Amino acid sequence: MTQQALPFLPFVRPEIDEDTIQGVADVLRSGWITTGPQNTAFEKQLSEFCGGRPVRTFNSGTATLEIGLRIAGIGSGDEVITSPISWVATANVILEVGATPVFVDIDPLTRNLDLNLIEKAITPRTKAIIPVYLAGLPVDMDRLYEIARTYKLRVVEDAAQAIGATWGGERIGKLGDIVSFSFHANKNLTSIEGGALVLNDEQEAELARKYRLQGITRTGYDGMDCDLLGGKYNLTDVAARVGLGQLAQIERFLAQRKALARAYFDGFENGAASALGIGLPVRDFENGNWHMFQIALPLARLTIDRAGFMQKMHDTYGIGTGVHYPAIHLFTLYRARGFAPGMFPHAERYGASTLTLPLFTQMTEADVARVTAAVNEICEHHGK
Ligand SMILES: *Cc1c(COP(=O)(O)O)cnc(C)c1O
Repeated sequence: MTQQALPFLPFVRPEIDEDTIQGVADVLRSGWITTGPQNTAFEKQLSEFCGGRPVRTFNSGTATLEIGLRIAGIGSGDEVITSPISWVATANVILEVGATPVFVDIDPLTRNLDLNLIEKAITPRTKAIIPVYLAGLPVDMDRLYEIARTYKLRVVEDAAQAIGATWGGERIGKLGDIVSFSFHANKNLTSIEGGALVLNDEQEAELARKYRLQGITRTGYDGMDCDLLGGKYNLTDVAARVGLGQLAQIERFLAQRKALARAYFDGFENGAASALGIGLPVRDFENGNWHMFQIALPLARLTIDRAGFMQKMHDTYGIGTGVHYPAIHLFTLYRARGFAPGMFPHAERYGASTLTLPLFTQMTEADVARVTAAVNEICEHHGK
């Protein structure tokens, strides 16, 4: 097959430019490699990029979610509503702070929390909501914050995938309560590993700084105190310099992702995949940042399962794919806490059939055409 002559196409690959590599070398030579001036600059530029509220960096998007909950005062005895379709970190941090995760099913179209189901899940113990912006598509923020206001709930937005996404023309992070970003290598903007919290005021920013590093406060040259149980979650200056290099290119990154997503829709306009009823993302070119392009396989109409589909994509066509994500409530840790199949049918169906196709800034529209042709061919050979 001619496809085998083409280079392997992974489902994601970060784009680090020469200026960033040079900048990292400069940081390494500078004598200050952990949290320092690069971090301060990264926090300032992130704040400018997403609307001006205070920003504090962390060493992962998991740390930001956990500390975001702590800053919101969430702990033992509290219930936190979230989506079963996310990276498992979203639910794990709720357990980590001693609270109880309460899942609400997804809207099968947006694949995000179904906001219409939230009110039914609220109890006197509900203290917060963690909405997840899957693939960088925000939920209806007006509706979300209307619910939060009505029931006096805190919101920690899991915007791990949503840097650069917007709502009502404003960048995610500008409005709302506490907002959490991840800069993991696969995200739209990376610092290799890392994350950031957008906070409401300087008081929360100071709390974030303390939780980030052992709860330490300093006054003058030799005055040190520790007045809260913090951890070790600071971002290195090497990582911050990578983040700064990415932020300088974010507008181009976003535009390229949008163009590639459009090419995907074109590629699935006709062909065996659409004839079989393949599920496509919401065609939202207004708000989303196209962090991923996920299809839902029409498994009932295929003679091949998802693992077989992925293997074929890999072996026959040289194309990498991923699964984002299996439903969290079906993992052993969560089943042991009483969750079971059948509780969240839309999430379960999505989790079992979703497939993430390659989407990264160094891809071309010809690469997209190669992917959609492969998906269509497999659907043609295995359709029933
Ligand atoms: C990446 C991600 C996280 C966690 O971020 P890390 O930086 O990997 O710790 C949390 N939630 C979602 C939805 C993510 O995509």
